[in-house]
Amino acid sequence: MDDADRCPCLSGDTYGACCGPLHRGERRAATAEALMRSRYSAYAVRDVAYLRSSWHPRTRPPALELDPDQEWRRLDVVATRAGGPFDDAGEVEFVARYRWATTGHAGRLHEVSRFVREGGRWLYVDGDVGASPLRTGSAGSATGRSPTAPR
Ligand SMILES: [Zn+2]
Repeated sequence: MDDADRCPCLSGDTYGACCGPLHRGERRAATAEALMRSRYSAYAVRDVAYLRSSWHPRTRPPALELDPDQEWRRLDVVATRAGGPFDDAGEVEFVARYRWATTGHAGRLHEVSRFVREGGRWLYVDGDVGASPLRTGSAGSATGRSPTAPR
């Protein structure tokens, strides 16, 4: 992936201004969401070393192999809880879409990921797939924002 390319996390920025410097260790994720985005992008560009280094040692799998047939196509962050520069923990709910290159079949992963910050570094701990505990608004809300939430 070239630095001038669109970042796979679809932040609207280039890879060189978004997840690229995190993958290269030049910058740290300031928020849990930034780390989550960079991990999604790492799946997209198949950066296994970054996926391992951003995974909490307590929950990190001993081996990590990515299926070369699985292409990650789109990320939508649905909701976040805490995970800011002054927090030590946070959660990010997202939907990630992928496609199997060989068959063309598409799929989606809906997950709430948990993160902690240790020694100034955000780390992925684990996640619940399919659950949606962060969404407090009506089920039909496209933004995940509660209809009664202040604007
Ligand atoms: Zn990015």
